[in-house]
Amino acid sequence: MAEDINISEDVDLSSLAIPDNTFVQEAVDQYEKRIYDLQQLLEISRSLCSTLEYSTLIESILYTSMCQMHVTGAGIFVLDEMDSNSYNLSSNHTGIDLDPSITYSIPTTSPIIRAIFRNNQTFTVQQIKELLPKGTDIKEIESLHPTLIVPLFHKNRMNGFLVLGERLDIGEGVEYTSYDKDQILSIASLAAVAINNAALLEKSSTDMMTHLKLKYYFFNMLTDKLDLAISQKQPIAVLMFDIDFFKKFNDTWGHACGDYVLKSVAKILKQNTRAQDTASRYGGEEFTIMLPNTTKEDAMSVAERIRKQIEDNDFVYEDQHMKVTISIGCAVYDSTYNHVDSPKILVEQADKALYVSKRSGRNRVTFADDEVINSTEVPQ
Ligand code: GH3
Ligand code: MG
Ligand code: MG
Repeated sequence: MAEDINISEDVDLSSLAIPDNTFVQEAVDQYEKRIYDLQQLLEISRSLCSTLEYSTLIESILYTSMCQMHVTGAGIFVLDEMDSNSYNLSSNHTGIDLDPSITYSIPTTSPIIRAIFRNNQTFTVQQIKELLPKGTDIKEIESLHPTLIVPLFHKNRMNGFLVLGERLDIGEGVEYTSYDKDQILSIASLAAVAINNAALLEKSSTDMMTHLKLKYYFFNMLTDKLDLAISQKQPIAVLMFDIDFFKKFNDTWGHACGDYVLKSVAKILKQNTRAQDTASRYGGEEFTIMLPNTTKEDAMSVAERIRKQIEDNDFVYEDQHMKVTISIGCAVYDSTYNHVDSPKILVEQADKALYVSKRSGRNRVTFADDEVINSTEVPQ
């Protein structure tokens, strides 16, 4: 027999499980926030994975993390090369104070790295300390006063880790919720994929000996930048370099000496480029530099400065002091007088000018003017 149901007059209806409007509204707000955050993640993924230039990517990861986690600063430890054996703090950090007495480089074999590597989760400094033997020195991290440390995992490999700075009070206090931690871990895994892609491109487009870009990369960049220069009616210059009598270094002091000269010349070229310029090892002992937004006068003075620096430099290989000189050709696209529309032609013009420098005595700079461009002599 069914029990009689005694409906007491004292029943509090508000305690029944029928959600009131506030409860429903809270659930809707939470779902809306989740949808908004997922849209943000999609946008972050699109933006990070389409950034292949390494330093721009690092900057983008830092700013994205700062915005999403409401922190006033961020830094990132990364492997300088994919097979590097230490994680180094990228010089791109922002809003965090460094201690000049500390080298922010942590070996991949360090217990700190092993502690972070153990799980794909976020850490506070305290949590890392708890995973390490008492008294382990973690000054490289501790001195940055991070509020959170976030590993960047891609396919079971840690590409680096983020250190987040001071957190702004965002209405709900300054503590990270588990939702915040999931969100930054999602961003970190997107960042890890993007870093992996950028590192692969960096490696495959860079000459391992001189650390300058390879010819194909230079050509792709020149194609893009020449298009831009044409559309914006801005000048763009190409310098082409060839070391004079380079063979004699190999023949006299051996191939390793030749390599030393190549590396030293490449270093001087690199030191003379701005962030927007691209220097490449075009072939054996030939190099190029592309200078966007640069007039003939400025390009010629950069070329002359490099020529002089190489001529004046004391090249020392195994106690042997050597003099090195370089010949240079310079060509400029400028809408007012040189209407080339292909990177190939611009490079050919620089090459012709280089040939004139060689023929007229070496260790000099020649500009690809009409006479040089129209000459029928073909560079070797
Ligand atoms: P020029 O003034 O006419 O340019 O004379 P050169 O001796 O510099 O020119 P040449 O083209 O005869 O010689 C270039 C040499 O560069 C030949 C090649 O063996 C050497 N070379 C090319 N790549 C490398 C390299 O990676 N390392 C070393 N050590 N030598 C290289
Ligand atoms: Mg040559
Ligand atoms: Mg040469």
